[in-house]
Amino acid sequence: MPRAVGERVSQSGIYKVIHQDHRQPHEATLRKGEVFPACRICRTGVTFEFLRTLAEFQPDHIGYDPDFVDVVVKKTRPA
Ligand SMILES: [Zn+2]
Repeated sequence: MPRAVGERVSQSGIYKVIHQDHRQPHEATLRKGEVFPACRICRTGVTFEFLRTLAEFQPDHIGYDPDFVDVVVKKTRPA
């Protein structure tokens, strides 16, 4: 079941990140308690599907992805 931007991450793991048109789906790590971030290009049009739990090999955290770095860095500051 796809998760939307702004929802709280309920399970740490590797998620499939599905953009609208500008980019192919890719994988990223998100951790429990974080918020699914908006993409800088398709904004809230991006959705996230849980793929698997974290293992030894994992893709970069979504905060390292250039399409999400601004939003993630901004959201991790205290409100
Ligand atoms: Zn996007």
